[in-house]
Amino acid sequence: MEFTLIARHFTRATPGAVLGVGDDCALLAPSPGMQLAVSTDMLLEGRHFSPQDSPAGLGHKSLAVNLSDLAAMGATPRWATLAIALPEANDAWLTAFARGFFRMADQHGIELVGGDTTRGALTVSITVIGEVPPGQALRRDGARADDDVWVSGTLGAAAMALAYRQGRLFMEQIDAARVLPALYLPTPRVELGIALRGIASSAIDISDGLLGDLGHILERSQVGAVVEFAALPTLPVAQTYLHEKVARDCVLAGGDDYELCFTAPAARRDAVQAAAQSAGVAVTRIGRIAAEPGLTVIDADGQPLPIDHTGYDHFAA
Ligand code: ADP
Ligand code: MG
Repeated sequence: MEFTLIARHFTRATPGAVLGVGDDCALLAPSPGMQLAVSTDMLLEGRHFSPQDSPAGLGHKSLAVNLSDLAAMGATPRWATLAIALPEANDAWLTAFARGFFRMADQHGIELVGGDTTRGALTVSITVIGEVPPGQALRRDGARADDDVWVSGTLGAAAMALAYRQGRLFMEQIDAARVLPALYLPTPRVELGIALRGIASSAIDISDGLLGDLGHILERSQVGAVVEFAALPTLPVAQTYLHEKVARDCVLAGGDDYELCFTAPAARRDAVQAAAQSAGVAVTRIGRIAAEPGLTVIDADGQPLPIDHTGYDHFAA
């Protein structure tokens, strides 16, 4: 039963692996001279998604959030394992989940080479493995004073969608429809991460909100930053709600965007733009690294904004 399930839904050709699903371990041969980048992310029903969410969307998102970690390291995706707990073996659900999962996998050339399947409360845990040339990984500890701070794409849409769903932010239905895809179908910035090798001095993916995640770069790099609120890129539809504090908080500290926040020397601005263009994603300069620790957000007049929240903490009340 479990084996039919694995054979039917999770076994695909894996030309990039020596041995894929079906034995006690997968066998992987890294490209000569490359370092492996490895990351795991777990999604729990009730915390990261709700029971009524679409299974195809969950398949997409659970792999996308893992690919986002590879993107943030500048790693090329190669292999993944999938541990999944299910309350029951529901064939229609699994078919849809696998469709969303493999569509995302095929887009980024990552192969499912193993995993574990068990009965239990719906939980998806994925491990991804990527490759990066030695010394070229985009780490959190490389930001230097006077570097520019950049973000890809737009900020806040996923958190605004969640706030709308939870009744904390009122939006016209037509506007909500424009932010909801950010929450359910995030795009990992894999090509951008790879293109930024040798250009960005540090990088992180924004899973828990800009301020919190940029804060991780600052802490690891032992520097500070000044960010201009007015420079933060948002969807046009989000701008119509920025008079609401909830919406501003979504832009500054809302989770689930999976954009990249990175730093680069000011002398590399053209190289950053060229990398973004080759990756087909917009990037925006939002501030500057400072020698003194601390993160300041300033308004259009250069006045510091009060910041009460620096990112979503799973262990906060
Ligand atoms: P074992 O008992 O040796 O751990 P399993 O019965 O758990 O073996 O799994 C059998 C094979 O199927 C293994 O190769 C394992 O990696 C793979 N597998 C199990 N569950 C999944 C899954 N959800 N996705 C992909 N491969 C899986
Ligand atoms: Mg097992």
